[in-house]
Amino acid sequence: MNDFYLNKTFSDLSSDLLVNKVRANMDEARFRHCQGVSITARKLAKLNNYDEDKAALAGFIHDYAKQVANDEFIRVIKDPKNNFNQDLLNWNRAIWHGIVGTYFIKRDLSITDSEILTAIKRHTTGDVEMTTLDKIVFVADYIEPGRSFSGVDEAREVTFSNLDAGVGYELAHTLQFLANNRQKIYPKTLAAYNVWGIKKEK
Ligand code: GDP
Ligand code: FE
Ligand code: FE
Repeated sequence: MNDFYLNKTFSDLSSDLLVNKVRANMDEARFRHCQGVSITARKLAKLNNYDEDKAALAGFIHDYAKQVANDEFIRVIKDPKNNFNQDLLNWNRAIWHGIVGTYFIKRDLSITDSEILTAIKRHTTGDVEMTTLDKIVFVADYIEPGRSFSGVDEAREVTFSNLDAGVGYELAHTLQFLANNRQKIYPKTLAAYNVWGIKKEK
């Protein structure tokens, strides 16, 4: 990925060290996805007058914990020192890797910026309230160049013309996908859909 670069790490780590730590925590396909999300987040930040370097960093690390083992997630959720809601134990790694991923990002990458950590936390489910950075990471994850599901071109068009519309498109389609596969809907996904996914009154 030639156009992937970080100007800032929002951490004491150098850019090279941070990139190598991320690479070491996942397989090659997931690493390329993280670079793709970073590139897309940078473009969306420019388009929406947001800090491009912060969006590029948040996009790059959003799936840092994607390949952490289940028993490791469970150990971190159960440790009272970490203050995680114990209801998380009723969910699975699809839901854990963002929310609980913030623990590993703080521990391994020394990133403490609350805007970045919140965007990581919300990147899978969205939320009722979403900052510009939350929205950028959420949709960049969905439309990065490596994604190829049916409808992705329409998702790209919608998102590059209007960020909020992109969030709505993704939530509506994710909800549809989950229901079609008879999967359990995380309450935040549904609450986010009710805010961002519905047609606005004219
Ligand atoms: P990825 O980490 O780049 O693969 O993308 P995401 O973090 O957006 O999504 C991870 C997985 O979580 C996807 O397979 C989604 O379909 C799934 N997911 C998102 N919302 C929900 C939900 O409410 N319930 C369940 N069961 N899965 C969800
Ligand atoms: Fe993810
Ligand atoms: Fe992702």
